[in-house]
Amino acid sequence: MSDCILETEGLTKEFRGFVAVSDVALRVRRGSIHGLIGPNGAGKTTCFNLLTKFLQPTRGTIRYDGRDITSMKPAEVARLGLVRSFQISAVFPHLTVLENVRVALQRERGGSYDFWRSETLLRRYDARARELLEDVGLSAYAGALAGSLPYGRKRALEIATTLALEPVMMLLDEPTAGMTHEDVDRIVTLVRRVAQGRTVLMVEHNLKVVEGLCDRITVLTRGKVLAEGDYATVSRNPEVVAAYLGS
Ligand code: ADP
Repeated sequence: MSDCILETEGLTKEFRGFVAVSDVALRVRRGSIHGLIGPNGAGKTTCFNLLTKFLQPTRGTIRYDGRDITSMKPAEVARLGLVRSFQISAVFPHLTVLENVRVALQRERGGSYDFWRSETLLRRYDARARELLEDVGLSAYAGALAGSLPYGRKRALEIATTLALEPVMMLLDEPTAGMTHEDVDRIVTLVRRVAQGRTVLMVEHNLKVVEGLCDRITVLTRGKVLAEGDYATVSRNPEVVAAYLGS
């Protein structure tokens, strides 16, 4: 088994002639937390969309867990365990926190929203949903309406609904964006916890978070890989420093 769970070769995406992602070779080691960083417009979101198959690459290949997933559909790669957080972006504000996770579980297991299908099944969903809420530190909010949650807790709920899909590899899109210090610390702890036994690829702007969490980092600028390595190596790279200072 390769020690990389995800590998891209020559990954390229053009939008009407504009090259947003250019010849990217990304290697993500199994079991690692890998950061994808770079200035605005570097191509990070486009990369995520390519990896989760929301976009089809113009050129290049994507291998995940030994398979070529380049031509697969988003639902197929999600079934293989490559799941993007906020993919099911729906935190339903008028459902409770517990119900949100239950819906995610039901969607995963049967694709049905019928809450009244079977008592036994419902009890099982309920128990699993409560476990997931415990995992993300939201047990105390189980009965609260999701729409009433503070922002940081809503992001934790999004992670719980993603965990309902049983991801093998999770793609996290700026998990700490717009958060207070306290929320950032909580999400960092949470990401570390959910990364156990999984691989995580995360786009993150907060470099302190990247330094604290990521085993390896790929830096993108203008669609290309500028540097790759551990934080200490990458952060000393003069080209990376220049890209971040905008010079
Ligand atoms: P990042 O996430 O690093 O900020 P993006 O992947 O969102 O960067 O964008 C990379 C570049 O591709 C940007 O210049 C953006 O304007 C362009 N881009 C992204 N999506 C589209 C699209 N659907 N059509 C045209 N250009 C796009």
